[in-house]
Amino acid sequence: MSRRFADDTLVIATHNPGKLREIAELLASRVGTIQGAAALGLAEPKETGTSFVANAELKARAASMASGRVALADDSGLVVPALDGAPGIYSARWAGPHKDFGVAMRKVEGALSTAQTTDRRAWFACALALAWPDGHCETVEGRVHGTLAWPPRGNRGFGYDPMFVAEGMTQTFGEMEPAAKHAISHRADAFRQLVARCFT
Ligand code: IMP
Repeated sequence: MSRRFADDTLVIATHNPGKLREIAELLASRVGTIQGAAALGLAEPKETGTSFVANAELKARAASMASGRVALADDSGLVVPALDGAPGIYSARWAGPHKDFGVAMRKVEGALSTAQTTDRRAWFACALALAWPDGHCETVEGRVHGTLAWPPRGNRGFGYDPMFVAEGMTQTFGEMEPAAKHAISHRADAFRQLVARCFT
């Protein structure tokens, strides 16, 4: 049986202020008070999981245990089947210490040409985990499927957005209006699933 969120306060297990703001906006009408992990002084656990769901779950559980409240965490990235799922859970790390996604996108393109494949399918995945202090945890995974474009186009998004064209679209995520991207994104899909299961 899935469990519904019935508290007043929700902890968001991220130290990223942009992510915190975006999640707070998405859940504002359904949660009384939202607190960020950084404001609570919570440590960031090492992401040692082998899947998006496992990493989201370990971050949510750590924040819930430390705060004694229900905590929400996410983990996301780009999956390329022709590269055996890479960069996957290592999507942020492919950008290197300077978080340069020009470098990360060139690595993806380089790996595709090394693999001599014409299969340019990819998807973005976003896992969400909602953990309670008693150990219960609800998880979902949202996706948006598409293909990889080269060279990258557009400067509106972040990360791998300039090389991702969602199914049925001609513009990359980097070229699309942010609201149009947000309506079809992996994050939107994951939040729709979580809200339906735990927040309605
Ligand atoms: P994390 O979920 O904060 O660990 O970050 C995962 C990484 O996946 C980000 O640094 C981005 O590189 C990539 N990523 C996740 N979502 C998106 C997206 O919507 N557009 C582009 N890149 C994304």
